[in-house]
Amino acid sequence: MTAEPRIEAFDIVISGAGIGALTLANYLAPMGFRILILDRRPAFDPVHRGELVQPLGLSILDELSLLEDLKRTPHTLYKSFDFLDGRGRLLMRSSYDRGEAPYPYALAIEPHQMDHLLARNLSSHSHIVLRHESDFRDFSVDAAGVRATYERGGEVRQVLARILVGDDGRHSRVRELARIPGTLTPYKDSYLGASLLLPEDSSSLPPAIRESSGRYFLGPRSIFFFFSVSERRRFFLILLPERDRNKFFSNGVEAVLERLDRLVPGFAETAKENGLDNPEKFTELSVWKVDLERWCDDGVVLIGDAAHAMNPHVAQGRNQAMEDARVLAPIIARALLSGPLVRREALLPYERARIPVIRSLHRLADEMTRVWNSGNPLVVRAREAAFRGIGRTPSLQRKIVTTIGGSRILPLTPWDKIRALGAGL
Ligand SMILES: Cc1cc2nc3c(=O)[nH]c(=O)nc-3n(C[C@H](O)[C@H](O)[C@H](O)COP(=O)(O)OP(=O)(O)OC[C@H]3O[C@@H](n4cnc5c(N)ncnc54)[C@H](O)[C@@H]3O)c2cc1C
Repeated sequence: MTAEPRIEAFDIVISGAGIGALTLANYLAPMGFRILILDRRPAFDPVHRGELVQPLGLSILDELSLLEDLKRTPHTLYKSFDFLDGRGRLLMRSSYDRGEAPYPYALAIEPHQMDHLLARNLSSHSHIVLRHESDFRDFSVDAAGVRATYERGGEVRQVLARILVGDDGRHSRVRELARIPGTLTPYKDSYLGASLLLPEDSSSLPPAIRESSGRYFLGPRSIFFFFSVSERRRFFLILLPERDRNKFFSNGVEAVLERLDRLVPGFAETAKENGLDNPEKFTELSVWKVDLERWCDDGVVLIGDAAHAMNPHVAQGRNQAMEDARVLAPIIARALLSGPLVRREALLPYERARIPVIRSLHRLADEMTRVWNSGNPLVVRAREAAFRGIGRTPSLQRKIVTTIGGSRILPLTPWDKIRALGAGL
């Protein structure tokens, strides 16, 4: 066995093995660049939530020839989602085939399954190294390149690279050390989430649990999103107002389960069978917004949540991290041909292409948060009318579905909103 050298040389070092990093490495792999991906997690373990791969993400996977492989892993294919009110009455069915997206469906997956798939595809490239249990610590930049320091198994190691990519999430250390100006703001409300494993023989389960339709129940100051990621796995998210667990469970977990059971009959019993009669078993998922003035500097570039964490109401974070990678890959590849250090100037086309898209998604997500999370009776009535109106107006459906699909962001104009209200009242 040979000892590992103390300073290794790579073209690219990436802090964080999120979906952005894995997508970027998959795009760059055929070009032969030496890439080191560091992640502090010991493995790609389940993160206790399901996520939607929108048509944008599907088109990227298709470009990487990985879409068919993803379809062979556990998933649920959604052609539409239902939006219902707090009493379970249908407000709108949002169908992907009404939009301009490249695919008329989305896939609901468990994120770690998709991460495994992308990582497996890298394993045949010996010039790409993925190291878990590796905590990125520090970096410095000079004309010779980027010197990154990380810790693994109690040992401090160094890497010399030509660019450092920060895909280390919303609390990015790369961003902090690079002193990239901007704001990191928590949203006032968060979510509680958990997954339910159905029994192997599900024939005795109520249809509302068995069927895999995706249902968003929006009531006054309440949201319940219930969906499937495989034949036996269901996920749900519940709004946690003001992030106050004590208040949320003040009448006991039983009262919460009963309320949800009125919307999805059979939910309470299935939840209890999955240990959710204990409030501690509900995982809190906090939500942050990262809004930066710039995403790169000499030798450093940010992707994914590190650059633009957003509210999950738009169901886009994973998809936009993948799009960052698709846009950035050819820009990095060109820049690597021109010297030992990738300069900010060479990365500017990435910022110019991506920041405006993300700004409009942030605006949309903030507006959705104000309207969807509201308990104000007037806002709730207007929201319900707007959902009904959008459902009845094909041109507005097209805008909503295209935007959620991710390939083009088409927010509703003030006139669109008046039309939606008019059609829904
Ligand atoms: C409730 C909820 C629901 C969501 N639903 C959806 C959805 O339906 N569709 C969708 O597209 N998106 C969704 N998202 C958003 C999505 O999860 C994120 O946007 C996406 O995972 C971000 O990917 P990323 O590549 O930025 O990396 P991240 O997933 O943020 O990963 C960052 C990685 O960096 C590692 N790391 C951090 N610091 C260090 C360090 N110092 N050294 C080494 N490694 C480090 C971490 O271990 C982690 O593996 C949702 C988010 C939430 C909270």
